[in-house]
Amino acid sequence: MKEIQPAHAKHSPSALKYKETCPGFEPRKEESVFSEEGRRLHEAVEKGNLDGLTDEQKQIVNMCREYVDSLESEVYGTGEHHLVVWREEKLFIASGLTFGTLDYALFNNRLGLADLVDFKFGRNSVPDAEDNPQIQAYVLGIFEASPGTMSVAAHILLPRRDEVSRHSYSRSDMGRLRLRISTIIARCEEASPQVCPTESCLYCARQGVCGALHSHALQIANGYDEELKLPEEFHPSRIIDPATMSRALNVSRVMEKWCDSVKHHALQMRLGGQEIPGYEMRSRAGTRRIADPMAAWLAVREKLSSEQFIACCDVSLSKLEETFAQAAPRGGKAKAKQELCEALADLGVVETGKESIYLAKTKK
Ligand code: SF4
Repeated sequence: MKEIQPAHAKHSPSALKYKETCPGFEPRKEESVFSEEGRRLHEAVEKGNLDGLTDEQKQIVNMCREYVDSLESEVYGTGEHHLVVWREEKLFIASGLTFGTLDYALFNNRLGLADLVDFKFGRNSVPDAEDNPQIQAYVLGIFEASPGTMSVAAHILLPRRDEVSRHSYSRSDMGRLRLRISTIIARCEEASPQVCPTESCLYCARQGVCGALHSHALQIANGYDEELKLPEEFHPSRIIDPATMSRALNVSRVMEKWCDSVKHHALQMRLGGQEIPGYEMRSRAGTRRIADPMAAWLAVREKLSSEQFIACCDVSLSKLEETFAQAAPRGGKAKAKQELCEALADLGVVETGKESIYLAKTKK
């Protein structure tokens, strides 16, 4: 009888970085708004279909597509005329110990070279291509699946951070990559893995039931180790030491997730028919918007002037730039965008919103 392969590996490449810090880590099964967006953007990069995306999403998808186009041009430049490209390709890794789906790989078979590209659409940092266990798993899978490939250049694209991380691996790295991946998995397969609360808990499906995390993060008086230790000075306005403020920020990140999780599960409980003392269910109407501006104009043009109607409209600058650039001849899009920006600036019709300042976790 044919064995049915599950859709996701037990130890998928994307979970390896969390499992390395805590072998008890389990990825969440439900799709979050971030993972749903990531899935749609990966599909848009793969198929080039931008329907239904916001201006910002279209921009980052185009950045990714332009990046792989430039890699393909480089391969053509070496005299290779038969591009071999893998998109969303399922790969078996470490002799079948796990498997996963890589985003994009390009092969220059004549020279025995390959490029591996991984798209990350979040705003958080990720480990560099040189250390990233997910990337190393795909690199190992490529070497195993393609015996003629002697070197793999790995690229992690983070368009929302305007970052690219690159590292080149050679076939002689296979041994150490296999050792790292198989060791992470072997620790997870222990009967009682030694769990270790870290920031990975934010993304773990066991967050609600993990005793180690609860005794680590939920005792207000004591029990915190260094990483999530509550500051002695509790009131934020009285914290004057930067190191104490850093610890307070670490705790606030975990608590924010916990609060969201409480609200989500409380609503599910109420929707499931259980009363929650002191709380009642209410609903809020969704935001109204005009889906078809032309139809709206036809409906009001007997009563309003075009100037009055236009005063009610918002124009998306990025959408206008994109549409204007689409009308430009091939190769002239960037120049057309630039000319439009200059013309609008000369007219004084572009306003820039106030810059916002925030703290982001430093990349390790
Ligand atoms: S909640 Fe944290 S400590 Fe517990 S298993 Fe998950 S990652 Fe490990």
